[in-house]
Amino acid sequence: MAGLYVHIPFCKRRCLYCDFFSTTLLERREEYVQAVLQEINNRREEAGEPIRTIYIGGGTPSMLTAEQIRTILAAIGTKDAKEITMETNPGDLTSEYLHAIRRAGINRLSIGIQSFKDELLQLIGRRHTATQAINAVHMAQEAGFDNISIDLMYALPTQTMTLWEEDIESALRMNIQHISCYGLMYEDGTALSHMRDTGDIEPIDEDTENKMYDVLCCRLKQAGFTHYEVSNFALPGYEAKHNSSYWNGTPYVGIGAGAHSYVGHTRSWNPNEIDAYINGIKQSNLVRESEQLSDTDLYNEHIMLGLRTCQGIYVDKTPIKPRQNPDPLTSGLRDDNGTIARLCGEGLLRLTEDRRIVATQKGLHVLNSIITELMTE
Ligand code: SF4
Repeated sequence: MAGLYVHIPFCKRRCLYCDFFSTTLLERREEYVQAVLQEINNRREEAGEPIRTIYIGGGTPSMLTAEQIRTILAAIGTKDAKEITMETNPGDLTSEYLHAIRRAGINRLSIGIQSFKDELLQLIGRRHTATQAINAVHMAQEAGFDNISIDLMYALPTQTMTLWEEDIESALRMNIQHISCYGLMYEDGTALSHMRDTGDIEPIDEDTENKMYDVLCCRLKQAGFTHYEVSNFALPGYEAKHNSSYWNGTPYVGIGAGAHSYVGHTRSWNPNEIDAYINGIKQSNLVRESEQLSDTDLYNEHIMLGLRTCQGIYVDKTPIKPRQNPDPLTSGLRDDNGTIARLCGEGLLRLTEDRRIVATQKGLHVLNSIITELMTE
């Protein structure tokens, strides 16, 4: 099984917190789609396995017409694909558009709602309203979509615990199957970081941010959602297959400007610049940088990705071993200094009966430092 990702980098305007690769040069869309079609044609067989999941992400893929989406999916070929996801902005969605992309083959929608509060949406520079978000989900359901994910954000400036709890309840009223949830990050160079630095906005304190995350996990669990990855929650059977393939080492081919691929322990990526990408495809001289992952890289990646999931990492059966000094007690996970035992003792990791280590709720608050501690050099 392999995955295929298509990056559509166009956005009507930039959200204030965004540091993803995207562009507002909407007039380049058709030219870009033609380059994407050419790249699909060039690389369709690269994964060496049938494509089981397709993910059209961005940017804002719903800035393309339904016909452009249909053409892209037709070029990929969807006969083996079980899950075909498209990211959308609620402000772009109409009933007609949703019916058309469903007919084109999209069977899972990811809708970037972020918040059901207009004042918070405005504050972070989103261009849709709460009413548009609610209508978008209803229209999608009426169009026949029965696998819908929404994105939510917490730790937004001025967001109180009450406002956050109301957002969670609004999300649950939508009868959707999947929720991806991210705390706001102040990335260098973004407008929001600048606003923080000039004192125009005040970030939420860390303690409140952690409480918001805990409330989210607790409420969604009560509502029947599985917390299957640090930022992702799904009703049983609705875990994102495509994203899961990133976490479990399945090969994937990334198409489009800035898209990353991972095939045969080699990671490669396209230039994240529209002209370099389109011209490279047109002139058949696209420069894709790549790196071969070493055993140590694979081991570290295994830790980094595994600990983000509720499955955690097998300490007895882990298939990847570091090149140097594998610890015989943990069959692959280095624990030279008793780090795993210490982290378990501190209540940050727990060892399951079938000998997996999994981050605890307390551990999820400091997951990056746990991962760094467990990585090897
Ligand atoms: S819609 Fe997404 S990709 Fe586009 S600017 Fe906003 S956050 Fe960034």
